[in-house]
Amino acid sequence: DGVVYSELRWPCKSRVMLLVNPQSGRGQALQYFYGHIEAMLTEALVPYTLVITEHQNHARALVREADLTQWGALVILSGDGLLFEVVNGLLEREDWEEAIQTPLGILPAGSGNALAASLHHYTGFDPVWGEELLLSCGFLLCKGLLSRLDLVSIHLASGRRIFSFLSLAWGFVADVDIESERYRHVGAMRFMVGTLVRLASLRVYQGRLAFLPVRDAPASSDLHPSLCSSLPAGLDSSLNQNSCESMNLNRNTARNSSNNAITTMLAESQPSKQKGPSDSLLPDLDQPVPGHWDVVKGEDFILVLAMLQSNLSQDLLAAPEATADDGLIHLFYVRAGISRPALLRLFLAMEKGAHLSIDCPHLVYEKVRAFRLEPRSSEGAITVDGEQVEYGPLQGQIHEGIARLISG
Ligand code: ADP
Ligand code: MG
Repeated sequence: DGVVYSELRWPCKSRVMLLVNPQSGRGQALQYFYGHIEAMLTEALVPYTLVITEHQNHARALVREADLTQWGALVILSGDGLLFEVVNGLLEREDWEEAIQTPLGILPAGSGNALAASLHHYTGFDPVWGEELLLSCGFLLCKGLLSRLDLVSIHLASGRRIFSFLSLAWGFVADVDIESERYRHVGAMRFMVGTLVRLASLRVYQGRLAFLPVRDAPASSDLHPSLCSSLPAGLDSSLNQNSCESMNLNRNTARNSSNNAITTMLAESQPSKQKGPSDSLLPDLDQPVPGHWDVVKGEDFILVLAMLQSNLSQDLLAAPEATADDGLIHLFYVRAGISRPALLRLFLAMEKGAHLSIDCPHLVYEKVRAFRLEPRSSEGAITVDGEQVEYGPLQGQIHEGIARLISG
């Protein structure tokens, strides 16, 4: 059924569900697994079950239905898109509050490996790429330290709500994200190629942007004690003792999960049944933003980019100061009027995270807890964690440290 089991015969209290997207990046995820990861996990005595995804939203349905008492961690070997599915699947569950505390891990095998690059950045080591980044993240996984992970809940015009761990982009960056899909075969280089192509046909994007700056947000220091424990000790408490059995997947569970997807959609249309944390900082999308929010003057943008992690890609260190659990949305925007060479300089400087120190008058950086974006033009692209979402007005707010991430 496309699901492969690979079990370590090791007495254990919890297993890792290792979700692999065989299509991610240049289609080498399984090669990476057998070439590097299998040996690392075996040597580190990390018990795991390999699950190969068969289609988009497969991982999302799986984690929505999974018996999480059986799993010590959910780890993806793919690009950021597969973790986006996992995070959203967890927050669509009835028991979302516990479910979202399942440790999450990432091993880069996609063309967009921004979270993996961010994790490596947080270790303080010099940047690495490709298979070296994979090894670095494999090492972090075997080490098994946990930290908190912030998420942003994003309300879309349709009333749908999604959760992001990485980024929201509109304008230049979103267009590059989407257009560069056609350069997938060049792997992580696709964003650089896409950037150069888009620079040649630079355009202005009209819309309104408002945000809740950090200085006006309620204090969040009492929200979460910092958490740092290690696997498996940190996992034992929440897991039952007999969790060594392999996962039992069959066509039946697949069918159940698609029925459940429909049930979930129905449930989501009734606000009282909404799963996931409530968004205390956000008014309804059709109401004006609160008076203490900042509204950006001017409606002509080149890009708007909200970052939760440091890296936008392996090569772009967009928010050098960001950490996984700082409780901040790092909001960037570039105003229209910037020249092509200046924009190129900005992206080149971003490779080293130096774009904030080149005194570009068109670039603005704000640390915020919530934001609202209302594009004016009827068509365009918005991406969340590198995945295209419905286009239209949207708003988001931070949920500090509600998830857990296996990190250095
Ligand atoms: P990349 O960084 O290469 O884009 P991602 O992990 O982001 O890799 O995956 C790209 C897309 O593929 C995501 O939208 C994901 O949901 C989807 N996907 C996951 N598994 C499969 C599969 N087996 N076949 C096709 N697409 C898949
Ligand atoms: Mg992707």
